[in-house]
Amino acid sequence: MSRAPLPFRRCGPGAVSRSVGGEGGGASASSLVAVLLPLPLDRAYDYAVPDELAAAIAPGSFVRVPLGRVERIGVVWGEGEGDVEPARLKPVTAVQEAPPMTEPLRRLVDWVADYTLAQRGAVLRMAMSVPGALEPAPVRTAYRLGQGEPPRMTEARTRVIAVLQDGPPRTATEIEREAGVSAGVVRGLEALGALEAVTMREVATFDRPDTHGAGPILSAAQAGAAQSLRSAAAAGNFSVTVLDGVTGAGKTEVYFEAIAAALDAGHQVLVLLPEIALSAQWLARFRARFGTAPAVWHSELGTRRRRETWRAVAEGRARVVVGARSALWLPFRPLGLIVVDEEHDTAFKQEDGVVYHARDMAVVRARLEGCPAVLVSATPSLETVVNVERSRYGSVQLPDRHGGARLPAIETVDLRETPPERGTWLAPALRSALAETLDAGEQALLFLNRRGYAPLTLCRACGHRFHCPNCSAWLVEHRFSGTLDCHHCGFRVAQPEACPACGEEGSFAACGPGVERLAEEVDGAFPGARWAVLTSDTVQRPSQVQDLVDAIAAREIDVLIGTQMVAKGHHFPQLTLVGVVDADLGLAGGDMRAAERTYQLLHQVGGRAGRGGRPGRVVLQTYAAEHPVIAALAAGDRDSFMAREAAAREAHGLPPFGRLVAVIASGPGETETQRAASALARAARAEEKSLGIQVLGPAPAPLRLLRGRHRFRLLFKAPRGALLQPHMRRWLAALDRRTRARLQVDIDPHSFM
Ligand code: ADP
Ligand code: ZN
Repeated sequence: MSRAPLPFRRCGPGAVSRSVGGEGGGASASSLVAVLLPLPLDRAYDYAVPDELAAAIAPGSFVRVPLGRVERIGVVWGEGEGDVEPARLKPVTAVQEAPPMTEPLRRLVDWVADYTLAQRGAVLRMAMSVPGALEPAPVRTAYRLGQGEPPRMTEARTRVIAVLQDGPPRTATEIEREAGVSAGVVRGLEALGALEAVTMREVATFDRPDTHGAGPILSAAQAGAAQSLRSAAAAGNFSVTVLDGVTGAGKTEVYFEAIAAALDAGHQVLVLLPEIALSAQWLARFRARFGTAPAVWHSELGTRRRRETWRAVAEGRARVVVGARSALWLPFRPLGLIVVDEEHDTAFKQEDGVVYHARDMAVVRARLEGCPAVLVSATPSLETVVNVERSRYGSVQLPDRHGGARLPAIETVDLRETPPERGTWLAPALRSALAETLDAGEQALLFLNRRGYAPLTLCRACGHRFHCPNCSAWLVEHRFSGTLDCHHCGFRVAQPEACPACGEEGSFAACGPGVERLAEEVDGAFPGARWAVLTSDTVQRPSQVQDLVDAIAAREIDVLIGTQMVAKGHHFPQLTLVGVVDADLGLAGGDMRAAERTYQLLHQVGGRAGRGGRPGRVVLQTYAAEHPVIAALAAGDRDSFMAREAAAREAHGLPPFGRLVAVIASGPGETETQRAASALARAARAEEKSLGIQVLGPAPAPLRLLRGRHRFRLLFKAPRGALLQPHMRRWLAALDRRTRARLQVDIDPHSFM
């Protein structure tokens, strides 16, 4: 690290109001720094820099400072404000041995805090999620050859010397293992001076991806697309390019070329995936292309691996990171490319804590870092489509599947005309398609976005339904586990034998299908067919997904039944039939993105079919065959569908043509919570006209009760160019603080529950 002169103001004798005071003596000449702590605080606080630390402190330094009775690690955010009373000013106590946080990352924290109205320190916490990485790596004792000559060589001793002759020092355990000797042999050699102990920092190694290995031979269209991305990556300036190509077009292979270009330019690369736990196939392809695995970042990572990875990114040793949205906060230096794969995916929106959209903030980070971003999708979000139309984003198209594979044929089955038999969920047309697929020795996927056995369970005798005690939601029966579960808060009880309301035994009726019930139907209708259920209940760890993916690839499974987890990214060449059991499911509820999201999800699920040599087929079961979403899917007409969506949103001033801000009030008391929401609404309504905005609500949220908290929603509508944040901040600041209700601001909301 270079030690540039301190850019901070020194408190000289002239600055009377800022002088640190005479009694302290030593502190009088120190400079001030503002330190931001990863705590729910909005601003950085001043600390004095003792002379002996001055040379080691620069903007971005991780420093240890006293806070109350404890010490905390924070980041030097800038020059001190000088507004702390001298008597209360505390000194920085230490500087951590870690690369300082870069300027672009600090600006990102500021930007996200300003934009989302989250506290600055809460945003910083996402960029400091691994406190252990700010401490020096643990030391261990290792041995190398010393000067001493053992008076007598044994075979064991010779083996130890041979092991250490070449290569780095090794720990006693490593020597014992490699040389096949006991601990006594190592101790003996050390006592004789033949081995010398050295202390070493434990540093995990991350292999450099090899960009010279040959990728697949690209088609002309792929090569053209790759060339555009490669030149953007090599140029290294900020730009956003949308890689828009049908499922199976080879988008991944194409953006791998951009990754190679950024690596060749000496930069690091970040790839965001919506569901990193499901990325086994992606990782295998990366290894095939670059000869080594990338660094992986997600919430399931163990503490030690997190620490090592964070540190390796900060030191530039990890060159490519693939991760879930939290990887956006890693300390890259310098970042040369950000890829957001499946950019339309809702998993990029973080709904609790700091509420932000990782795709949008990835674009902001790219801008602050001055590097290109690539947004990848077969069904780009309307926001992205409009940004392309307005020429804010570039676009690269891949209109055909790779290798002559055709897009699957899509058939709709109108359930009003040809319903399934009573008590079953697969209509005759889907059943026969399934039978044909199985007869041909091919694989099928049944998609139903409902976990568990049935969405609703009730007592036939008295009509009793099972309700979550903490949420306004029904409990969902899970037969595999014999429980009733709340999908919102995780509440779970064993399925009772008798109805708790009327005491009748065995009176429960399941209403509607979940994936478990479909499995039961497949099992009954196709004895001998090997099926598996893929949902967040059946697979949790990446290794479990891997096992399932391997089993499918090895054709040990004939029918895969799953929720949206199966939609993402997988490539199964033998899978030729996709059955969508309830194509209308996502259309209910009426949020403004319902149609768009349904189109994206069903298109993506359908895209799993026919990716290999054999043609694929998609069967959509629907009660609304004339609905524009279903019609567009059947006709494969994305562009006119999106154009209609755009026109409808524009007519109503909805995003991306207008702005929305949602506020969710939640609290233990219903009246108190509603009152807090109403107070905010009143403050905002007083300025509705002057600001040209519209305030809707408060209204009880669709999920009125969640985890025991009552919820009310407010929605603010504003013209596209308007910036609501400063006003919102002002209104919130003026509210009575003596309430237990919490107001959560959601800028650009995606969920309206
Ligand atoms: P997408 O991400 O657009 O859905 P993928 O990148 O997953 O498509 O590609 C689909 C399949 O086709 C993958 O198995 C991929 O390895 C293969 N593929 C794509 N392009 C090529 C190519 N040029 N040569 C060989 N295989 C390719
Ligand atoms: Zn619940």
